[in-house]
Amino acid sequence: MDIWLIMSRCFPEGFYKAIFEGCSDAIYVIDPHSSAILDANACASKDLGMSHEQLLQHSVISLQQGVENEEHWAQIAELIFSSHPQAFTFIGRHYHHNGTYFPVEVYTSVIEFEGQKLFLSVARNLDRTSSQREAFRTRDARLTYALNEAADGMWDWNTVTDEVFFSPQLKHLLGYLPEEMEPVVSTWVEAVHETDRERVIGVLKAHVAGETDHYEAEYQLKKRDGGYIWVRDRGRVCQRDENGQALRVVGMCHDITRSKQLEEMLRSQASYDHLTGLLNRRAGYIHFAKQLSYAERYHQELTICLIDLDHFKNINDTFGHLVGDAVLKHFVSLLNGTLRRSDSLMRWGGEEFLLLLPNTDISSAVRLITQLKKELKRYPAVLEEGVCEVAYTFSAGISCYPAHSSILDGLIKCADDALYQAKGDGRDLIMISPEVDI
Ligand code: GH3
Ligand code: MG
Ligand code: MG
Repeated sequence: MDIWLIMSRCFPEGFYKAIFEGCSDAIYVIDPHSSAILDANACASKDLGMSHEQLLQHSVISLQQGVENEEHWAQIAELIFSSHPQAFTFIGRHYHHNGTYFPVEVYTSVIEFEGQKLFLSVARNLDRTSSQREAFRTRDARLTYALNEAADGMWDWNTVTDEVFFSPQLKHLLGYLPEEMEPVVSTWVEAVHETDRERVIGVLKAHVAGETDHYEAEYQLKKRDGGYIWVRDRGRVCQRDENGQALRVVGMCHDITRSKQLEEMLRSQASYDHLTGLLNRRAGYIHFAKQLSYAERYHQELTICLIDLDHFKNINDTFGHLVGDAVLKHFVSLLNGTLRRSDSLMRWGGEEFLLLLPNTDISSAVRLITQLKKELKRYPAVLEEGVCEVAYTFSAGISCYPAHSSILDGLIKCADDALYQAKGDGRDLIMISPEVDI
């Protein structure tokens, strides 16, 4: 039949439905507000391995890898509405029903139907597109594919123009939308945390100058919301001119925030006591050694005080372990309120604490501890306001560098002996070690 004859006819509704269903790309009609899929064609069902009914149970958030949550979708929807024309191309991944995913190029435009604005998304399955597959044989297309497809964020820096291609994944990693992030090197430089910047740029420059085989650095990168993620960034010059000048550097940023956080947590767990937040004995030793060498170098006194709560076992037995814990915290907060900035307190054992008082003589230390005893009598631990208080006391043994010993273990031994004596003499006492090696 003559095409003009067909064109001049008013097609029945079924004709448009046939076009919709027959299209070789997946088509989705989406509610911009909820991200729900309102309709999809046969190709969409085929690509995602779902029946039409199953598809209608889904939203863009559950089908598209790049869209994280409702808030992220709202940002994308806003971007589509504010674009001129109202359309948006996104390269991402769609999930297949069997759990795998495939690369897609999604072109989304705004359509209006019976006064309601809807999104029409046409998703081209890049795995299926033979022309794309052909194109991927060329180096640049392969690179483009990798830039869009790699889970890690890739970048491609033209050192001549200082333009940088940031892959969608890299933008996504930092919370940016595909259209954001100015593609210039200063965008990256400004995003590197200022405490890392000089070091990282130094490492990159050394590689660009040909001094190293590749560039690799771990640093913090600023996100769109102002927070930071930790990345391991690796790259290499992939093109140089005839004089050996770098023309192009390509690299990849891998998000290592989780492992960094874990590392930090382990480090802090290894140094700090979980209950009181004080340095633990192991880290305390190191700190003590530093303080002692400082006192030696500057010919200052360093007084130490070993403190042990009296009859603490009774508190546990009477009120329970949780109350015992609360008493330990109470004691630490009371002490922290009395100490000077240069003083340091560490948890030496269960209910035993070591206090370091730099540049302090014995009589000043005794005054401070006496003051602490008064405070403790005035402010016992309160379990229940106006109902239950736990009154407790402590004993303390004091020694001083250089009067009692000039070595760390000697000072601790002297303080420990004095503490033992305080316990033996009835508790709630402060004892000074007898001067042994002046
Ligand atoms: P003394 O006056 O001789 O020091 O008597 P004491 O009861 O304080 O000393 P003892 O060494 O007999 O008991 C210390 C108790 O401290 C035993 C232990 O269960 C308790 N303890 C150690 N660490 C903790 C802790 O983190 N929380 C609680 N609730 N109790 C702890
Ligand atoms: Mg005790
Ligand atoms: Mg004890």
